[in-house]
Amino acid sequence: MYRLAYYDTLTKLPNRAFFEKKVSKMLKEAEESGEKMALLYFDIDDFKNVNEILGHKIGDELLKHIVNIINTFVKPPNFCARLSGDEFVIVLKKIIDKDLIIKDVEDFLMEIKKPWNFEGNEFFITVSMGIAVYPEDGRDLESLYKNVDASVHHVKSRGKDGYEFYDFNMQEKTLKRISMINSLRIAIENKEFTLYYQPQIELQTGKIKGMEALIRWFHPKKGHIPPDQFIPLAEEVGYIRQIDQWVIETACKQKKLWNEKGYNFGKISVNISSKMLVQEDFVGILKNTLNECGLEYSELEIEITETAIIYDLDSVIKIIEQLRGIGVSIALDDFGTGYSSLTYLKKLPINVLKIDREFIQSIINNNEEEFIVKSVIKLAHNLKLQVIAEGVETMEQATFLKEDGCQVGQGYLFSKAVPPEEIEKLFSSGKII
Ligand code: C2E
Ligand code: CA
Ligand code: CA
Repeated sequence: MYRLAYYDTLTKLPNRAFFEKKVSKMLKEAEESGEKMALLYFDIDDFKNVNEILGHKIGDELLKHIVNIINTFVKPPNFCARLSGDEFVIVLKKIIDKDLIIKDVEDFLMEIKKPWNFEGNEFFITVSMGIAVYPEDGRDLESLYKNVDASVHHVKSRGKDGYEFYDFNMQEKTLKRISMINSLRIAIENKEFTLYYQPQIELQTGKIKGMEALIRWFHPKKGHIPPDQFIPLAEEVGYIRQIDQWVIETACKQKKLWNEKGYNFGKISVNISSKMLVQEDFVGILKNTLNECGLEYSELEIEITETAIIYDLDSVIKIIEQLRGIGVSIALDDFGTGYSSLTYLKKLPINVLKIDREFIQSIINNNEEEFIVKSVIKLAHNLKLQVIAEGVETMEQATFLKEDGCQVGQGYLFSKAVPPEEIEKLFSSGKII
């Protein structure tokens, strides 16, 4: 009876009732002894997808896998409880200082991030964790719980996968976020965006092979806000489709204009969020846009990131096939930073692989990275993919890449992303052909 009332049957961990009872008692003890305690709450990122897409059986196995890790890290008098579904809370007693638990928390999260092998498949798991400390973040369970919740939300709002200690500035940060969402809505209405372009250079000849469109937001008061700061937010709050649609239209019109002016180069490349890609009838909408702009389908390249596609692999594959069917080219962006599973690479019918700039920037003087880049180029060629190296900043890097058979480079060595007028100057100066 006791086990049924206080323990979870699937994972054998204490349940919520146990947790509440035990923590109230611990808090009283801590008050008397003057000791500190910490509450670490976490849940599994996108667990809902695991259950919905992979099924409850795998969901249950995943929970057990997580609990095995918990059990190797959490020893009495500390304990962990499963509050519900994928929600866990770890209680640490007698902590001296919060800095001292950071290392343990980081080790724990690292362990969870190691790929989980189940029935021949590899899964990549991350969690979002919030931490509140007694007594500074709350003297009773209710306030600790409220604050731990605020910190988890914080982790989620900046893209999940990580941990955060509660701090009283969080309220302020939440307000900032709300104001940013507002500004973004106004920016869409008032058309505060522009597109800059960055050339992609054929390394053997120095010719422009393509041009990537990169969005720029100049806010009337806040000035330039980099895309990394608002694109993820736009994805989260549902504005990204409008933005991506505007980018496609603007880039295609620009390309058409350049064609007319006689500035000829291969393809214009746009970054597309996975939310846009899986939108109903994306291919139809895209065809309309291209027709309206009078651009050939084969003049457009779409860049997608691999992190974005793993949960919806099958539908993404279908969409990519349709795109290729009409002649639109597909590049896999940021290769090497996300899941980078070779399985995806084989399954995705893409044309181009873009090696992330993190790798390119460490190829000189780092044998390991050098080896990775060489291998990726080889692999891509075997899969009949074209390779673009991102973030090429030095001649040395360009030479290395050229020698290893990488066809195209993009980066500050050739040009930053610049307004269309600057691109035209590049063309007429003859610096770039
Ligand atoms: P990305 O697609 O990987 O774009 C490349 C980023 O690297 C750009 O930053 C570019 O300015 C920068 N870069 C280019 N060459 C170099 C170099 O040699 N060294 C270094 N250190 N950096 C270089 P940016 O423009 O800030 O864009 C950041 C990210 O924002 C992009 O990464 C992309 O994921 C997203 N983004 C940008 N424009 C759009 C857009 O129009 N739509 C969507 N959905 N996302 C966009
Ligand atoms: Ca890109
Ligand atoms: Ca990239």
